[in-house]
Amino acid sequence: MKERTLSIIKPDGVAKGLIGEVLNRFEHAGFQVVAMKMVHMSKKQAEGFYAVHRERPFFESVTDFMSSGPSVVMVLEAENVISRNRELMGATNYKEAAEGTIRREFAMDIEKNVVHGSDSPETAAFEIGYFFNALELVRL
Ligand code: ATP
Ligand code: MG
Repeated sequence: MKERTLSIIKPDGVAKGLIGEVLNRFEHAGFQVVAMKMVHMSKKQAEGFYAVHRERPFFESVTDFMSSGPSVVMVLEAENVISRNRELMGATNYKEAAEGTIRREFAMDIEKNVVHGSDSPETAAFEIGYFFNALELVRL
């Protein structure tokens, strides 16, 4: 079944000039882009986005990072795109990420790890709605 996920090219990925590289991988994987924009999140917006991590020790730091510069946020659609996108991304910690994954190749830090991807249909629905309204999602 076709599914949608929210992907973010995080501020470190944008700063390192990796927008094209990441999009290329998504297109090669057959993911269709149904919405995309640049956003420079405020601290409050980053806190809202990562609200599930509010109690985690890294919450303060990761929300500073996510509001430190522009990101590219996009909605991808494909069969099983949630898990397939997370496979392309690799593990949160780039040191544990599989060879050839985005984080293994480009991340330099457990926090500044280039990309975000929703981890379940429920979080995808929340995260897509956080950045896009229905009119901004194209019909394929
Ligand atoms: P994301 O949600 O960004 O796709 P993820 O699902 O792989 O990443 P989460 O556990 O949801 O990982 O953590 C959210 C983000 O918080 C991570 O991508 C990373 O930027 C940061 N983070 C996670 N764990 C740590 C940590 N131990 N130290 C510092 N930052 C962390
Ligand atoms: Mg996550």
